[in-house]
Amino acid sequence: MANLSVRFLGVRGSIATSHDAQRLVGGNTACLEICTDETRIIVDAGTGLRTLGNERLAAGIKHSTILLSHLHWDHVAGLPFFAPIYIPGHRVHIATGPNGTMPLEQAMQRLFVAPFFPVEYATVAEQLVLRELAPRETFMIGDITVTMAKLNHPDPVYGFRFEHDGQTIVYATDTEHYACVDPTLKKLAAGADILIYDAQYTPAEYPSKVGWGHSTWAAGADLARAAGVPQLVLFHHDPDRTDVQVAAIEADARANLPGTVAAREGMILLANDAQSMSAPSVSVTPVANNGQLTALI
Ligand SMILES: [Zn+2]
Ligand SMILES: [Zn+2]
Repeated sequence: MANLSVRFLGVRGSIATSHDAQRLVGGNTACLEICTDETRIIVDAGTGLRTLGNERLAAGIKHSTILLSHLHWDHVAGLPFFAPIYIPGHRVHIATGPNGTMPLEQAMQRLFVAPFFPVEYATVAEQLVLRELAPRETFMIGDITVTMAKLNHPDPVYGFRFEHDGQTIVYATDTEHYACVDPTLKKLAAGADILIYDAQYTPAEYPSKVGWGHSTWAAGADLARAAGVPQLVLFHHDPDRTDVQVAAIEADARANLPGTVAAREGMILLANDAQSMSAPSVSVTPVANNGQLTALI
């Protein structure tokens, strides 16, 4: 069975960091790769995207697909430094849901505009293929089925469920839990093997951050338990958090939900490995696609 895996290239939230005490976790912002043998989907384009672009050029890969959860800086800052978008003959598909403010192309143009950046959008437009998705769309990218759901954040944000050959990874960051498990997210994550979740704040910090659009490891554990997910991955680490502090949060979360791990740059997780962990024993009904899947790429 072909493996469904996730590779983390940037795990930090809000802004990139660089500090000796943060080397193990890493300082790049949100970027990861969801892979099977045939398909690679880049998810979010934070500063972790830069090295991935160089890697793809070196490997001769001329086609990239990037799904964006939303357009906050920490999720798009790597795009102007993703080398393939400057090279004629390369194709970079970028897809996301409605941002509630402006069309996707207009938003992309604002990433490449003086006085903030010296290269004009026209330079990269030829290589880009932009697609605005419906908020609840389900579609195929290669051999991976992707289902979207809108989450809780100050600007619209989307979570993604990736399925391949009986394996499932869910990505849900920049989302706030408020007082209970989000029913939309519970449905999106139902029966998944791995849940990557926003854990920017500790439960002690959260009361002073209500409305900021982020969550905690404890809310992630509640969600994983409710959705029957064996492996919770803590993601979107606060920029001030040191390696020691992330490890302490990871230990607290593991005491609550044993399969929990904190995301670190360079880490690779396989859905198959998570399947061998004991899932919380709840009855969940995984989301079913509507049988009208379209191929996005
Ligand atoms: Zn973010
Ligand atoms: Zn955000």
